[in-house]
Amino acid sequence: MSEKRYWDEKIETLPHPQLIEYQTQQLRKHLELAWAESPFYRQAFSAAGVKPSDLRHLEDLQRFPFIDKAIERDRQVARPFLGDLTAVAEDEVVFVAASSGSTGVPTLSPFTKEDFDEFQDVQARLFWGTGMRRHDRYVHALNFTLFVGGPDVIGAQKLGALCIWAGSIPSERLLFIMKSFQPTTTWTTPSYAWYLGETAKQQGIDPARDLGIRRIIVAGEPGGSIPATRAAIETLWNAQLYDFYGISDIFGACAGMCPVRDGLHLAEDHILIEVVDPASGEPLQGDAPGEMVLTTLRKRARPMIRFRTGDIVQRYPDGCSCGRTHVRFKVLGRRDDMFIVSGVNVFPSDIEYVARNVPGLTGEYRVVVYTENHLTRFDVEVERSGDFQGADEDVADEVRKQIATRLGVRPRQVKVLAAGALPRATHKAKRLLDLRGSEGTSSRGENI
Ligand SMILES: [Zn+2]
Repeated sequence: MSEKRYWDEKIETLPHPQLIEYQTQQLRKHLELAWAESPFYRQAFSAAGVKPSDLRHLEDLQRFPFIDKAIERDRQVARPFLGDLTAVAEDEVVFVAASSGSTGVPTLSPFTKEDFDEFQDVQARLFWGTGMRRHDRYVHALNFTLFVGGPDVIGAQKLGALCIWAGSIPSERLLFIMKSFQPTTTWTTPSYAWYLGETAKQQGIDPARDLGIRRIIVAGEPGGSIPATRAAIETLWNAQLYDFYGISDIFGACAGMCPVRDGLHLAEDHILIEVVDPASGEPLQGDAPGEMVLTTLRKRARPMIRFRTGDIVQRYPDGCSCGRTHVRFKVLGRRDDMFIVSGVNVFPSDIEYVARNVPGLTGEYRVVVYTENHLTRFDVEVERSGDFQGADEDVADEVRKQIATRLGVRPRQVKVLAAGALPRATHKAKRLLDLRGSEGTSSRGENI
């Protein structure tokens, strides 16, 4: 039997006009469901002067109101326990995930049985797109506690891979599993992939030689789409990196890289993407970077209509040579981590491009943002690698120069620290220290 190239060829390669037609039909049905079954949506649509029958073309969605995390949380508190964005009775719900709650009350993400099955089918599709097949051994090392990425392992099983349900376990234990069972594939954050590889080396295990991991799926941070970060992790592990994007409000993974590994294909038969100006909410066209707004097309338990993700993305305007027709995008960073210096939008990930690129550095970095004379400034902290012989000043100059070339603005200071001086992340790295609004800025008093 010749191996199929796509998990679901018909859907994944649907010609664009048919895809639009399919999305329009699904969206109309989905809006009708939200209108009929969710008190919140009926009220919100009415307040905006729109109803589902106003949607004739996909663009008409722009007339419908946005929702965001705050609304999701408020409606959950107002109507416990699932909130009134929900469009089915609780009896139909078979699974809930919850967000980490790092900015307040954890928000729940309910699934009907059909939603959950479709979720896992999309996960299988995305795994398949990385080249994962039946002969692969997959160690699933994501958290199973409430986290929407936990059940993704079921998608890998659906595909036929041998799955090892490791969960979130200490690094030593995970390395033991990797050494004993020789899995070929794992999934983690870019920070943790790096950390785990370095930890292995400290224990005398060379990940590139002693472990069988040849495919690493990463998500949760922009690093998987930053070439220098990718190259560093791939060399450390002798593996190929595939970037995925997930969001607890929808699916564990909503989008993932194909073998071309340039941009993430969104599962457009389930989710509609808009890119909007983060300040005005106005839709942006083409490849202009902006905030990603997602709308579910089929998830019945809780339709998400125009959900502002807070993620700043860039769409790819052209098709992909893999043959998949679904849109590609890459994540540039979190809206809340973006800061503006002299009119230029800066993300910590912009600094990561440089920190991973300049020789003599460990690749770890931190960006410190502060106010000086009413202007936003930033410093960059990097670490020299243990075996580097060059002078700190030369490295700092190179970092400053490369940031200026990349961004058009330069950091006020580049501090070169000793290897290991910056905090190591085992999950999501906190790369931004924002001191604006605090009293501790360096220039306080200088100009009074
Ligand atoms: Zn592709």
